[in-house]
Amino acid sequence: MGLRSLKDSLKAVMTIELTGRQEQILNIVKDNGPITGEKIADQLSLTRATLRPDLSILTMAGFLDARPRVGYFYTGKTGTELLTDKVKKITVQDYQSIPVVVDESSSVYDAICTMFLEDVGTLFVVDKQAALVGVLSRKDLLRASIGKQDLEAMPVSIIMTRMPNITICQKDDLIIEVANKLIEKQIDALPVVKKKADGNFEVTGRVTKTNITKVLVDLSNNQLL
Ligand code: ADP
Repeated sequence: MGLRSLKDSLKAVMTIELTGRQEQILNIVKDNGPITGEKIADQLSLTRATLRPDLSILTMAGFLDARPRVGYFYTGKTGTELLTDKVKKITVQDYQSIPVVVDESSSVYDAICTMFLEDVGTLFVVDKQAALVGVLSRKDLLRASIGKQDLEAMPVSIIMTRMPNITICQKDDLIIEVANKLIEKQIDALPVVKKKADGNFEVTGRVTKTNITKVLVDLSNNQLL
């Protein structure tokens, strides 16, 4: 599902503040479904055309389902269940950011500069073949800076968290699975990777706590619309 259609359906689901008439329609369908649009209109003494927008909102939001020649029936899902259904359709590729990588031979000093210049909190470390070999967090770099070592002479490869201990994700993974991994492992970011022919991973993206926060903000903005 593309981001636009996803946003549209989330908007529909989040608009759970139903109008009085929509509540009435829901109740009629709950009690009498499956029921045709015509019959719902009769019960409300309205025309089918007047009801059409309400019926399509209720169907789009997932409260009602429609079958040709059968009519409308109640799906039995609450607003929260419908929201959960939609959240479980959001994938990494809908919210991922561009990754910032450094070479494994870079110095800790260069990595610190890159982190400031690129304004990110996590760097991914790659080898000459562009395969993921490590992760550098802010604290990794701070820790390395506490001593009296020469940061320009210290390669990042000696302080990074290295493969195979890196928690990764792929573009088709659910964003909620990534959120779970961030919480479980108490980390700030995950590289989005693609498996290369040689079995190593190429870094194609980055998902951070900020991306996850954006999901939440988008949900609540849709609710306000
Ligand atoms: P910070 O250290 O700035 O609080 P994190 O909580 O992300 O940032 O990092 C904590 C530790 O976990 C660091 O040592 C870091 O190298 C490591 N780390 C960060 N991201 C990952 C990841 N995706 N997989 C494995 N380890 C990671």
